[in-house]
Amino acid sequence: MNLLSVVVPCYNEEESLEFFLDEIQKTLADYNYEVIFINDGSEDSTLEKIRNLANSNPNVKYISFSRNFGKESAIYAGLVNATGNLICLIDADLQHPPYLIPEMIDAISEGYDVAAAKRVSKKGEPFFKTLGSRFFYRLFNSISSMKLIPGATDYRVMTRQVTDAVLQLSEYNRFSKGIFQWIGFETKWIEYENIERVAGETTWSVWKLFMYSIEAITSFTTLPLTISIYLGFIISVLAFIYLLIIIIKYLLYSDPVQGFATTMCTILLLGGIQLISIGILGKYLKNTYNETKNRPIFIVKETNINDK
Ligand code: UDP
Ligand code: MG
Repeated sequence: MNLLSVVVPCYNEEESLEFFLDEIQKTLADYNYEVIFINDGSEDSTLEKIRNLANSNPNVKYISFSRNFGKESAIYAGLVNATGNLICLIDADLQHPPYLIPEMIDAISEGYDVAAAKRVSKKGEPFFKTLGSRFFYRLFNSISSMKLIPGATDYRVMTRQVTDAVLQLSEYNRFSKGIFQWIGFETKWIEYENIERVAGETTWSVWKLFMYSIEAITSFTTLPLTISIYLGFIISVLAFIYLLIIIIKYLLYSDPVQGFATTMCTILLLGGIQLISIGILGKYLKNTYNETKNRPIFIVKETNINDK
């Protein structure tokens, strides 16, 4: 029988873990599965909870990081250690309803490479987050040749082949939604309504989401760099035309050049555009710098994977 590896990133999930494993056990009673918890440097008792669950349940494996490396790194570590021929990615807070897993597995048996969940409502989400996420998808899809699907989550079941493809993209700055889309393969989307967390709180503040969007855009498209070039050209052409107008006015009508305000505005506008351009350039340089350092995506402090 196929082995299903369930990969679960956990950061401060002490209150959700037991509910979560309970649900998984009920849902997957008829399947051959392993659960891999990745403790992403939690500051609460998540690790102890995971150890206890692993001691009482032979299906439970875990990896514990030396510090918080972020959800993307946790997902990567889980995929590296998953041994199944089907791999499921799911959040620990039960916002990804486990009852969809059998449906996802069925889709794979029908011939799909991936079955992924798509959230159709944002019930319980703050207004600003919904607005921000809508804006992000619009922006990303209008500037990138690779399209992201609004509402698409990373909750999914993938075949071994797809998982290996994801693992080949071993970049340091990881943006899973983009990576999943980039590798291709046939995906079946399964829709579900948003569910609020069973316990604990989300760690994704609006600011963190904003920074994540910048990460997403700069790791999947270089258009911002091209925009700087266009902007430079447009401004140079306009400035040249303005220069001609000033010269002609002076020569033909002896019109004296004046205007402190216009000078100030021009300097500030250009200064602003230059700083933004340098900033954009810096962001790409930073990405390149980080990739060339070739640092590991995560560091493991403790795991039960090899002693089984
Ligand atoms: N998570 C993680 N590392 C982090 C932040 C979150 O492993 O630094 C895990 C978290 O425990 C949960 C999943 O990633 O299982 C999704 O996080 P969260 O529920 O905070 O995000 P949201 O559902 O609001 O997108
Ligand atoms: Mg959540």
